[in-house]
Amino acid sequence: MSTIMIFAEFTNTQLKKSTLELLTAARKSNLKIQAIAVGPGAKNMLAALGQNGVEQVFVSDSEVFARYNSEVFSNAFAEVIKAQSPKFLLASSTMMARDLFPRLAAKIKAGVVSDCTELSFSGDSAKIRKPLYSGKCSAEVQFVSSGTQIILMRSNQLPIEASQKAGAASMSEIVAPKTDLKTLVKEIVKATSNKLDLTEASIIVSGGRGMKDAENFKLLNELADTLGATVGASRAVVDAGWVPHSMQVGQTGKTVAPVLYIACGISGAIQHLAGMSGSKVIVAINKDANAPIFQKATYGIVGDVFEILPLLNAEFKKILQH
Ligand code: FAD
Repeated sequence: MSTIMIFAEFTNTQLKKSTLELLTAARKSNLKIQAIAVGPGAKNMLAALGQNGVEQVFVSDSEVFARYNSEVFSNAFAEVIKAQSPKFLLASSTMMARDLFPRLAAKIKAGVVSDCTELSFSGDSAKIRKPLYSGKCSAEVQFVSSGTQIILMRSNQLPIEASQKAGAASMSEIVAPKTDLKTLVKEIVKATSNKLDLTEASIIVSGGRGMKDAENFKLLNELADTLGATVGASRAVVDAGWVPHSMQVGQTGKTVAPVLYIACGISGAIQHLAGMSGSKVIVAINKDANAPIFQKATYGIVGDVFEILPLLNAEFKKILQH
């Protein structure tokens, strides 16, 4: 029987939302579902994976997988994929995935398509679509090779549906490869934020050059705190050094698709739109009524961000406190 394997990502306590999206899509395929989960805490995910329709999990909670290393991950994953030969391998199109899976594809001679926005299954074949030229058009992509088909999905594009399955997943231990490493990440210094990463956030409040300077981002932080949102930015303000690159949305930043994207003082250049036009509802605040962002916006507010943001924040506070 053909199988579909999911790269399961998790936080300290639960599967990531993006993984639940992939699992929902996989359940609609009627193929046997397997998963691969690595890193400390991976074994704690077995029950949740079983409840979501996964029959077999390839797992390691070794410290070797605590930090992403392309050699370690691609060697370990290659062993699993070579042995199992799943028809499909699904993962979220994160920065890490876009590094890992092309390497893996080269090792196992598989095809890989990243940044997909649509996915459905019919029998043994997958229908996938991805945007091209910064979202100006999209293409349906077909695999022509017979090997494993690796599909990297953008998050927030697929629905999450409750699983009707209640089975337990069986566990197969992955042996961490003994690799003579060429590079080693010694330390990762995390930005101190309790906010969700932009790619995971359901609500994003984003600021552009219209915010005038870094100090004024406090208005965006205040609104984000009220809404439980994450703050993003245009490249202009990242280049100006107001905020770190990890906050940049767009062609050379992160691709996001939240339920609500509030663009404040952002003109709507094509490279910015490339990263956020998949958002469900877009609210734009700009004092220039002809700013291109209004062509993409669901709701547009023509006005000064310094007047509008405090008003919006006060209104949202009133509504959300009731
Ligand atoms: P601006 O274009 O300067 O717009 C500022 C807006 O603020 C204006 O519309 C103005 O009317 C409004 N404004 C000013 N004051 C106020 C006020 N008081 N109240 C309300 N509105 C106000 N950009 C990205 O964002 N992400 C990317 O990933 C990215 N990648 C790029 C890759 C390449 C190869 C290139 C060439 C460019 C890329 N860019 C990217 C840059 C992009 O082309 C734009 O330059 C950038 O998005 C502009 O940022 P902005 O909208 O903040 O600034």
